Amino acid sequence: MDSRITLVEGDITRQRVDAIVNAAKESLLGGGGVDGAIHRAAGPELLAECRTLGGCPTGEARITKGYNLPAKWVIHTVGPVWRQGGANEDALLTDCYRSAFALAARHGIRSIALPSISTGAYRFPIERAARIAFSEAEKHLAGNDQFKSVVFVLFGAKAYEIHSSVHARLAGSARER
Ligand code: ADP
Repeated sequence: MDSRITLVEGDITRQRVDAIVNAAKESLLGGGGVDGAIHRAAGPELLAECRTLGGCPTGEARITKGYNLPAKWVIHTVGPVWRQGGANEDALLTDCYRSAFALAARHGIRSIALPSISTGAYRFPIERAARIAFSEAEKHLAGNDQFKSVVFVLFGAKAYEIHSSVHARLAGSARER
């Protein structure tokens, strides 16, 4: 795996990076989980800017300023709700990461922090989501020197452990190739 990809356990709202990614709802009008935490930390101006965007379909992304956050930007993407795997969930989650990285690239963002999209209220199986997240990050970084750091911020010890073992497995299988 690309050494610019790292994992930390913590709260994404505290990350000192150019952009943090939000696992938002289609309305972009705030919610629970990481979305609620980001809105609380950024302050009410974030919601005011989100209201001007007119929502965001699942798999796409939108960018706003970070207001009171240490991060300058927030990239809002809408993950799929897990429906037993028959509703294009893998492709939609892939699209989220792809859309977020594409927006970041267009805005000259060099460091980005991401949560584990869809694995909270939207119930996407966490290992499966981690594989998608890492492989999309890896694809995006290949041949791209704009990004200096991609930090996956895992909320809680269990999420961190699961992501670490998926990361180690992917790194191991990449070495064997
Ligand atoms: P979704 O609706 O996409 O599932 P959630 O916010 O419910 O979004 O959960 C997405 C992931 O974000 C979960 O793994 C959850 O544990 C994690 N999470 C919640 N709060 C934070 C936070 N402050 N920083 C980073 N990750 C968080």
